[in-house]
Order: sequence, then structure tokens, then C-alpha cells
Amino acid sequence: MPAVEWSSDVQFLKGVGPVRSRALNRLGIRTAGDLLRHYPRRWLDRSSVTSIGAAKPGDDVTIAGEVLTSGGRPTQRGRAMQTISVGDVSGVLFCIWFGQSYLLKQFRNGTKVLISGTIQVHQGRKQIVHPDYEILDNEGPGLHTGRLVPVYPLTSGIGQHWLRQRIHESLDLLEPSLIDPLPAALRRERDLCSLGEALRSIHFPDDAAARDRARRRLAHDEIFLLQLAMGLRRRGHGDVAGIRLEAPGDLTTRLVANLPFELTGAQRRVLAEILRDMRGGRSMHRLVQGDVGSGKTLVALIAALFVIEQGLQAVLMAPTEVLARQHGRAVASLCAGLDVSVATLTGSTPAAERRALLRGAADGEIDLLVGTHALIQDEVHLPRLGLAIVDEQHRFGVRQRSRAGQGGEGPAPHVLVMSATPIPRSLALTLCGDLDLSFIDELPAGRQPITTELLGVKDDDRIHAAVRAAATAGRQVYVVYPVIEESEGQDLKAAEAEYDLLRTGPLQGLEVGLLHGRMKAKDKHAVMDSFTRGELQVLVATTVVEVGVDVPNATLMVIHHPDRFGLAQLHQLRGRVGRGEHASSCFLVSDRWLAAETRERLLMFCATGDGFRLAEEDLRRRGPGDVMGVRQHGAPAFRLANPLRDVELVELARTDARAILDADPMFRRPDHRALGIMLQREYGRLLLGTVG
Ligand code: ADP
Ligand code: MG
Repeated sequence: MPAVEWSSDVQFLKGVGPVRSRALNRLGIRTAGDLLRHYPRRWLDRSSVTSIGAAKPGDDVTIAGEVLTSGGRPTQRGRAMQTISVGDVSGVLFCIWFGQSYLLKQFRNGTKVLISGTIQVHQGRKQIVHPDYEILDNEGPGLHTGRLVPVYPLTSGIGQHWLRQRIHESLDLLEPSLIDPLPAALRRERDLCSLGEALRSIHFPDDAAARDRARRRLAHDEIFLLQLAMGLRRRGHGDVAGIRLEAPGDLTTRLVANLPFELTGAQRRVLAEILRDMRGGRSMHRLVQGDVGSGKTLVALIAALFVIEQGLQAVLMAPTEVLARQHGRAVASLCAGLDVSVATLTGSTPAAERRALLRGAADGEIDLLVGTHALIQDEVHLPRLGLAIVDEQHRFGVRQRSRAGQGGEGPAPHVLVMSATPIPRSLALTLCGDLDLSFIDELPAGRQPITTELLGVKDDDRIHAAVRAAATAGRQVYVVYPVIEESEGQDLKAAEAEYDLLRTGPLQGLEVGLLHGRMKAKDKHAVMDSFTRGELQVLVATTVVEVGVDVPNATLMVIHHPDRFGLAQLHQLRGRVGRGEHASSCFLVSDRWLAAETRERLLMFCATGDGFRLAEEDLRRRGPGDVMGVRQHGAPAFRLANPLRDVELVELARTDARAILDADPMFRRPDHRALGIMLQREYGRLLLGTVG
């Protein structure tokens, strides 16, 4: 038989064969190495032995004894039943199986055994039905009892006992030839155990401490490899000569001088980070994270002006047309008097204007082009593009993002991504290893906190009164209904019906508008514009207002069916109010009975205004597994690592990955070679041949 290697087909391992191997494939196990990566879901603590005399009914115990008798007989219903009795100095225990006569061969009188399971008492006798057992011989500790025993995810045709044995055998076979990809010096410095020890102890730990050490090492590797892969990608697309910005001109200073407010400290710091990047000579790839309302758009605009005052062009891309127009308007008014030529390109730009605009972009006449992602990426040619800004990027679409940087010739333009949803710092550091990160962790001064309440239909009168009160005081109100795609028609009807009802009933006399995704772009813009101008007092809308819409005069947000939204989405919606100096509120209105868990989630939302904390909470509830769509982008999902918990590992891995990539990006050093191979094996698809 040829030597078994990490990549040997699992089918040819002893005791496996074609049928079992198909079942293992269903668990994602194809090679001998995959078996070792099939980590336990939990461990049963069977490390301490109880005496039979002390074991009480209902206890889950492990006992050690000697087989006294064994035999099989049919039950009254005709099934074969196997029984052995086991004794220790304190008493006798009966072990019972049904339909497993082959078991009896193993038990002779006097055989020493360990038995684990739940004690029952039947006709005055202590027994365990279908116990886990281990025949004790001289070959060291067992696998199934008398220790911390691994419990694996299974599939039909694969049993715990069998899988434990296969994994144990593979460990013995593979361990001698295992190469630890982590350089020994790094392992020592970071106090990580060896890969061999980690794999053995994650499956068959001597004690809880050994298991935790193993978990730490293996989780470290998952994070570390992802960091390396991200780092390589970054060097592939980003670590190229970038347009170098010289000392700033006066556009930005003039803009800042004209603002009716001061930049926050966080805005200044992030702008300094951006400027440092753009002056560094490397192309910038930076993600700006900031809570809703923290003033990301202004940061983006100032970054654009840094570039424009050097005679270069910038684009600002938004995910929706509503947002692109809003940005276009805001930017144009902020730039008034600055002699910057700003143009907005959306799907509803008339053909003639569009042609002129594309020509202006290509001629270099337009300094700042605002528009939707899709349009700008597909149609526009900007010869002097210095900076591409992607606003309100929702998903971490790595591919999408890197496209934003293309479009010009010569040195690569800088790329700035503004995130729509804050994600916890450690997760951002893990997932966005190919981006530099900036955090706007401060809201503009004078913002009033938003009071959030969970209400029911019985509160209708109160809600309508609040809407009226806000409108009478000169403020504005959003009333939002969810639209779920599958039942879009119905939901829309609900929003439309509600709109008619409100307008003619409780809100009679107020200026009420309706906005939803199915409306023609022209009508949508007309409604949005009149809301922005303050002509409409109430906007009944579906979630088109979710992201980015900025009407500082709006102070009340009423969200119907809040249970249909995720926390991040609710936070985005709530973020449409509380943008000015007026106190704002948000009502979550549910017309149905809410499950305890949903209710708890919504109440937590009411009590928390901090987007980063909500994101953390959301992840805690849903698990980080694939929340951010990592897998979708070709990266293996984490098995053991949890960036929310493993903050320390994330920081270490990020630092170490950078150091290695700086010193030896092709993994040529002997102590880096194994790491390069490992990386190629795990991330080959994502890297597409970046490693040699
Ligand atoms: P977001 O981070 O959600 O994209 P915006 O950029 O839309 O936030 O900013 C929210 C509001 O705050 C806008 O009306 C903007 O003009 C205003 N704003 C931005 N920076 C400041 C500041 N430093 N002080 C006061 N208001 C600010
Ligand atoms: Mg914004």
C-alpha cells in the first residue's frame, strides 16, 4: 500500500471504501487531510471515572470495570438483544444493545472495559442502553471513553465511533510527514503550538487546556492565511505605483472655510490618513467605516478635491439613482464658488446631455463626476482619473471593488470605499485585509440621540398624533413599509393602501407623498425632490430610502413590520433621522405577535444607538460563518476562528502577514515555502496564480 499523504483520496484509507467515502464526501471530506480538518463540534467530558455504586439514574457517567457475563437473546417483540454485565468493586452495571450481535465477540469474561452513557434503573438493576465503550488493552488511552471525547458532525452512513477511529488512524499516518507551515520563530514569538500537536489535541485533547491551545493555533492559521491571501491580492491590484499628490492647493481649505460647521476630529484624522496614502506614491485602497450620519460623504468630497486641485479627475459612485442625484446636488452646492466642474450621470440623464457629459469627461473638462456604479463603470472614460470613490458599498464584493480602480491609463488611480454598514473592527480587519481601514468613530457635535420605541397597532392614535406634531412643528416624517421580493405585489399594495388611508384619514390636511421602487425614475425623483425641499411633510415609502438619503429636517421615522428587517437595515433606516439639530424619534410598529427572540432583538435595537455594537450583536446572533459573503468570493469559510472573539489573533495575524509579505512576497525563503504551498492550496482560486 502506498504511503498515505495529506491529499490521498479518503476512499483508499483502511476501513473506508467506496460507499463510506461517498458519505464522507457529503461532509466535505475528500482526502485524508480533510479528515483531520473535520473538527469536533464538541467534546464529551468522559475523563473522570465514576464508581458503579455512586452512579445515579440520569447521570451521564464513565465507569471502568471488568466484563462478568455476556450473551444475547431475543426480546418479547423478537428483536435480538445483547447484554453484558460489568463489575467494579462497588457494584454491577448492565450494558444493553439491540440488533448488534457482532459486538459480543469482543467481550470475554474478564475483559477490562470503559463504559460511558446515561444510567437508567430497570427492575432494580443499573443499566446503560447503547453505551459508548472502549476495550482497555495496553495501547494507551482509548478514543471513546475515559477522556475528552470528540463529537463530530455526521451524515447518514457515518457513525461517531467509526469516524473517531478513522480520524485517529489518519492522525497517526499523517503526523510524521506533517510540515508545519508556520516558521518556528513566529510560532515561538506568538506562543502557538505546533500544527501536529494542534491537530492531535483538537480531536483527542488530554485536557481542556490542550484543546484550547489547539483551537487557538488552528484558528490563528485560518485568520493568518486569509490575511496573507488578502495581502497578496492587494499587492496584485493595489501595490502599484499610484498617482502621487503634491502639497494641497487651496480648494479644500476654501471648502472647509465655507462649511457651516467644523469637521469632527475623526473626519480630520481620516482625511489625514487618506492624504498620506495619496502622497505616498502607492495606489490607495482604503475603506472608510463610520456609523450612519458620521459624515462620510463630506470626507469623500474633500478627498475628491485633494485630487481635483492637482488637475486630476474624480468619480463618486453611488449604488442607487436616488443617492447619486442627492450626492450630485449636495456636491454641487458645496462646491459653489470653487470653480470645480461637477456633473451627474444617472439612468435618467437625457440622451443629448449624456453625450455631452461623456465627451466632457473624456476631454478632461469635468472634474468630478457623480453617478451610479453601473453607469460609470460601463460607459465613462476619464483620462485623468485620480480617485474613484465607491459610496455605500454594502457587500464586500472584492471583485466589484477592484474594478472601480480601472478606467485610466498610467499610474493607478486611488480607490476609496465608504461602507454603508459598520462592521466590528476585528471583522473588518479580517475580511478587508486587502484594504486599509479608517474609522470615523465620532458623530458631529450637537446630534441629539434618537429615541426608539417598539409599538403595536393599538398605539395608532399616538403614532398619528406624533406625525402631526412633527409636521406642525415644521419637521418631516418617514413612514416605511418593507417590500419582500417574493411578495412584492402584495406588499406594495399594502404600502399604497396605507398611503391612501393615511392621506384621507388620520393625516388628512398634511402633504403626504409616496415613494417605491416600482415607480418610474422621473416620478421617484419628483417625489424625493419635493421631500428634500420640504414641500412634502410625510413620505410613505418602501425601503428605497434605506441607504444614504439625507434630509436633516426629518425627525420621525415610523417603521412598519420591523421584524422583517435585519438589525443593520433597521439601523440604516433609523439613520435617516437624527441628522440635524432637532431631537428625533423612531417607532417600530408591529401588527402581529412577535416571537420572544424577535422581540428581544427589537428591544435591544431600541436600547442601542451604536451601529458598531448592533453589527456585533447581529453577528453574534447569526454567527460570522458567511455573514459577509467571504465564501462567495472564493475564500474557505472559517471553521474554528471567530473574528468577534479572536480579536487578539486577528491583530497578530494582520501584523505578521504584512511582515512576511514585505520581506518575502514570493515565499522563497526556506522557512516560508510551506506557507506558500498551503496558501496556494487553500486560496488558489481567490489568488488566481498570484503566488509563484
Ligand atoms: P453618512 O456617514 O451616513 O454618509 P452623511 O455624509 O450623509 O453621513 O452626513 C450626515 C449629515 O451630517 C449631512 O447632512 C452632513 O452635511 C452633516 N455633516 C457632515 N459632517 C458634519 C460635521 N462635521 N458637523 C456637522 N454636520 C456634519
Ligand atoms: Mg452616506
